[in-house]
Amino acid sequence: MTKPELLAPAGNLEKLKTALIYGADAVYFGGKNFSLRAFGDNFTREDILSAVEFTHSMGKKIYAAVNIFARNDDFDALIDYLKFLDCAEVDAVLVSDLGVFSLVKEFTNLEIHISTQANVTNWRAAKFFHDLGASRIVLARELSREEILSVKENCTAELEIFVHGAMCISYSGRCWLSKYLTGRDANRGACTHSCRWKYNLVEETRPEENFSVGEDNRGSYVMNSKDLCLLPHVDKIIQSGVASLKIEGRMKSVNYVAGVVKVYRAAIDSYCANPEEFKIRDEWLAELDKVAHRPYTTGFFIGDGKSTEIYETSKPSRSANFLGIVRAFDAETMTATIEQRGKFELGNRVEFLQPQGKTFSQTLTSMRDENDTEITAAPHAQQTVKIKVSEPVEIWSLMRE
Ligand code: SF4
Repeated sequence: MTKPELLAPAGNLEKLKTALIYGADAVYFGGKNFSLRAFGDNFTREDILSAVEFTHSMGKKIYAAVNIFARNDDFDALIDYLKFLDCAEVDAVLVSDLGVFSLVKEFTNLEIHISTQANVTNWRAAKFFHDLGASRIVLARELSREEILSVKENCTAELEIFVHGAMCISYSGRCWLSKYLTGRDANRGACTHSCRWKYNLVEETRPEENFSVGEDNRGSYVMNSKDLCLLPHVDKIIQSGVASLKIEGRMKSVNYVAGVVKVYRAAIDSYCANPEEFKIRDEWLAELDKVAHRPYTTGFFIGDGKSTEIYETSKPSRSANFLGIVRAFDAETMTATIEQRGKFELGNRVEFLQPQGKTFSQTLTSMRDENDTEITAAPHAQQTVKIKVSEPVEIWSLMRE
């Protein structure tokens, strides 16, 4: 059995490092233009060079999303950007548009992965792209397990599937809703997530009156999808022979990236080490509950994809607040240096999610600022705080409450 790749989102350099340190085998990012997250932090050219260097120094892979649907006016800038990515030695580019595909072939030696945005739903489409020169196909999220197996049987390209994260209610993002309602085009990376909005009904002759179509006074979120979570089926996914398990979320937090990557890393390693004894651990499910998410669904992988909407609210929930990142640890004094991200104070009960070690909890009993002055609270963003820890703690651990 070949162990599949665990592929994580890198919304910025810090999230990229977090993903790799918490166990991702590869990461994907978008540049300032031409990827489908126009409002994410995204990477400058300088960032990309640093990201490639960091990723390769860990022996891991980095892919660039260039998956917009291009217009004729984009070509000159695209050629320049693609040549830069080639020189920067990213390991592959993700494309969905055949025009962009042709530019990659003509002007670079880059490996090509077909983005889920291209909506590959059958083995003939997968084989067609493979024959054209794509090495990997990211399958549409709308496929069942049986359909994925059928593509695998009939096409020798590497296959990648989404295993975790938010989903579009529209066909893998090929959606006009945002453009129609706000002028911001999802196919150019500018989606306003209009499917998450609360919708009412208006009768033609009474435009001033909104009629709630929900069953309660919260209204109705008729197009609001649950989040995908295929952790319970990770064994079946590995058995199916897909090459890469992908986590969605370039716009999500460091806490999300660390927690989700750590769980899927542990599950993949556990299954591959001993398939017969494999079982889903409660602590993995508990961790996935701590990161920002909507109610989970297995989407189309098992069943028919029905019951995937949430009508009550479009807001994600989480059960852990992210307070800071451990930047240094002094074993002699058992002091951790924290880069603060959320407010905390003496007496708070906190936990540490570690890249490798077990999560542990403690109460905050001693805090000092960067000048070694005793403090009782850390109210300022990105403040440096030194705290006493009850156990040795790994650098890059996340402190949460
Ligand atoms: S509006 Fe919703 S369904 Fe459409 S592209 Fe945006 S997130 Fe996807």
